[in-house]
Amino acid sequence: MRQAGKSQQFLETKDYAQGVRVRLPVLVLTGKKTGPLALVISSQHGRELNGVAVIERVWRSLSPEKVKGRIVFLPVMNPLAVRMRRQDFPVEEPRFRPTGVSQLLYNMNRKWPPALGDDTYAGAVAEAVWKTYWKHADLSLDLHGWTDRSLSLAWAHRKHLKLLRSYGFPYHMVVDEVPQDRGMSETSAFQAGIPHLVNELAPQNTIVPEIVNLGARCVMNLFRAAGMLSGELQLPPVQYEFNQKHEEIEARTPVEGLLLPEAKPGDFLRQGEPVARVLSLETLKTLWQFRTPKEALVFNLGGSGWGEDSPPSNIVFPGQLVSLLKVPDAIIKNG
Ligand SMILES: [Zn+2]
Repeated sequence: MRQAGKSQQFLETKDYAQGVRVRLPVLVLTGKKTGPLALVISSQHGRELNGVAVIERVWRSLSPEKVKGRIVFLPVMNPLAVRMRRQDFPVEEPRFRPTGVSQLLYNMNRKWPPALGDDTYAGAVAEAVWKTYWKHADLSLDLHGWTDRSLSLAWAHRKHLKLLRSYGFPYHMVVDEVPQDRGMSETSAFQAGIPHLVNELAPQNTIVPEIVNLGARCVMNLFRAAGMLSGELQLPPVQYEFNQKHEEIEARTPVEGLLLPEAKPGDFLRQGEPVARVLSLETLKTLWQFRTPKEALVFNLGGSGWGEDSPPSNIVFPGQLVSLLKVPDAIIKNG
């Protein structure tokens, strides 16, 4: 007789790597009826925190009586980087500043599938997670969070388009070619034939209740779509779908000045509608205005400087990317 319930445990790395051995919190929900094994991971990168809150929400709301199968949550994949408030252990600076250290070396989401002889901490975590849980999973989800001023995005391989649409994130991308040499979570999932979704839940460093609510709703949808949970999918009114090679419109200012937004990320603009303008810092006159040349979704406005070297600023300089628009390949209207 199967013992339904919730249990909390820890997964420990096998050996010391870079001077540390760590343990990761593991939340296991065993449903009353048998079914698939789903894995949900979050915070491979230490500044990406909304996924932790999403998992806490979902964990609290799920009842083992109502679940078919087993769900394993790894909410804090990178316990050191999270505590350091950095993306990577031991250094994140190579991501945004030349340091002579490879940017890829300590990035946990470049460790999939784990390679023999990788003696980094991030590699040790990846190895423990892969062996213990992931390679046995029937379904997986990896929660991230890029910087603010951009919309978030979910993506999956085209083979899992139905699952991606059912996940119900308002903006999603359909991947035809998973990069096989970049070591991201989708690489190992794809190679192992595990249906896998990735979801960016911006912004970093802080918790935003709206994005936590949205993420939690999507995770519940995923379980429903996989037949692990009953109930209707809760889909947003509109879903913007992008192919991997979708059209993007870049707005680069030719002048310096103060960037004034005239739209916001998430606005779906008609041809000719204004996106932003740049004011002279001497006359306050408009020196340049950008209007979208065609119907498109405002994806980023204000640029996305990365890291502590690049705090957000609306003072812009010639050549700077100030907005990114995306042209959807499909617009799905629900109800
Ligand atoms: Zn990330």
